Amino acid sequence: MSDKVNPWQMALEQLKSAVDLLKVDQAYYDILSRPKRIMQVSVPVKMDDGSVKVFEGYRVQHNDARGPYKGGIRYHPEVSLDEVKALAMWMTWKTAVVDIPYGGAKGGVVCDTKKLSEGEVERMTRRFAYMIADIIGPQTDIPAPDVYTEAKHMAWIMDTYSQVKGHLEPAVITGKPISMGGSYGRAQATSRGVTIASAEAAKKLGLSLKGARVSIQGYGNAGMNCALLFHQDMGSKIIAVSDSKGGIFSKDGLNPMKVSEHKAKTGSVVNFPGARNISNEELLVTDTDVLVPAALENAITAKNAADIKAKILAEAANGPCTPEADRILFEKKVLHVPDILANAGGVTVSYFEWVQNLMRVQWSEEEVNAKLREKMVAAFAGVYDTHAKLGVDMRRAALTLAVQRVVDAMMTRGLWP
Ligand code: NAD
Repeated sequence: MSDKVNPWQMALEQLKSAVDLLKVDQAYYDILSRPKRIMQVSVPVKMDDGSVKVFEGYRVQHNDARGPYKGGIRYHPEVSLDEVKALAMWMTWKTAVVDIPYGGAKGGVVCDTKKLSEGEVERMTRRFAYMIADIIGPQTDIPAPDVYTEAKHMAWIMDTYSQVKGHLEPAVITGKPISMGGSYGRAQATSRGVTIASAEAAKKLGLSLKGARVSIQGYGNAGMNCALLFHQDMGSKIIAVSDSKGGIFSKDGLNPMKVSEHKAKTGSVVNFPGARNISNEELLVTDTDVLVPAALENAITAKNAADIKAKILAEAANGPCTPEADRILFEKKVLHVPDILANAGGVTVSYFEWVQNLMRVQWSEEEVNAKLREKMVAAFAGVYDTHAKLGVDMRRAALTLAVQRVVDAMMTRGLWP
């Protein structure tokens, strides 16, 4: 039997654990355990060879009690409706944990971008944006990047949406290029948030991140920037990193800038000069102070959780640990900073980008980073205090805080009609 858990089952189990703790009316569980709206689209795309291929796409809107839906768009061959539903629910909790006025949503297209040309990806992105244009918008649902999507995809979606509406609408999407209304600090925001949350966690353990050993699974936007920021801002030693092709280890520490150059040249971090190649499985159980899963779900399961050696586990990825792994890590007293807190820096600066777009202003990177720090430190303190007060793990504490905020908004607004 696989130790992997369906992310939607995971999300439901997490919701149940928070609702049980809060003792809220069963009706709230019934409402929150279902997305408010699911849109499934078949996206026909003209391929470079003249043929037409149809891709499956989703936009799931989980809850908007606290504000417009917010959440990224993922391109991956293993995207499924259950995964997108789970990611949408986690967005509802994440925006509530950092207390920004949004709900939660997520989108995805089942595709392997490594097998598509740039033109095919652009046509697929624009067609998908056109097909979901009726349910997204600056006051209703604001997408952003996720796995295998980045600033250029956001610019295509913004342009397509603006063409459909007949006027430029930068606030429809975040994570855009700076030249098209993107925010300074957005590209590194998720990872900056991870480092801030890790530093707060380290303080609780009486640890210093300076010189601390950090291992990172996944070397994309989140993972690579975590490596850079832990190295540059915290003075930590990056001893292991990996991507989908495998990992590398050096007990003396890797230079993340050099690793990024190597990946840009060769397509992977593997075979980095001076480092030893390791597998992704080995990376996760490396003897390290901080472990950052920054790839996909189900990285840490009942199978490997007992072997984790990190003192701090900061989830840059969404859903990298299964509920069973959570229980094992809690027993092992790993200070486990859950995704809905650790990686909330991304959506926080997305919120700042949206605010700047609506006000037609641009803040400096220093201003954005300072505002981000304030939000992350406050959110960490709120979750940590709840964890200490209730004696539950950090995920359950974060979920409890978040569900309470969402339920309060739903109660205040009432049910109409
Ligand atoms: P990305 O596409 O930029 O990078 C993904 C990385 O994971 C790549 O390096 C890829 O090689 C690696 N990878 C894929 N499968 C792997 C595997 N089986 N083992 C090891 N590595 C593997 O994506 P990203 O934006 O960095 O997102 C990574 C995670 O962070 C996702 O869970 C995403 O939801 C989460 N996240 C991202 C943001 C953001 O702002 N980008 C915000 C919040 C959360």
